Amino acid sequence: MAYTSRVAIQSTHPATLVINLSDSRCGNCGKAALPNEFYHETVPGWNEPTVGCRFDFITTGTEYSGTEQREAVIRLRPDLTFTGVGFFTNGQGWVIHREAMTR
Ligand SMILES: [Zn+2]
Repeated sequence: MAYTSRVAIQSTHPATLVINLSDSRCGNCGKAALPNEFYHETVPGWNEPTVGCRFDFITTGTEYSGTEQREAVIRLRPDLTFTGVGFFTNGQGWVIHREAMTR
């Protein structure tokens, strides 16, 4: 399957892949994630990796603001739509607080 064709697939379990300067997390479950996976398959860590929530990564986001960070995320995952800068909350999970700038 072509890398870009996946974007059009409708997912019943969509999640944001949150890519930071030195770590990546799943916007659905909040656990660590690998930045190159199509869905949250793996929770990497110091011990043995465990299984993620398996939600599909359809968008990206980051906890860091700035043009460089935004462009790095887009460069890393051009197949996913960059949604902007956000943060993790206790009650609501991943929340976008600054929309993606037009590019
Ligand atoms: Zn997850």
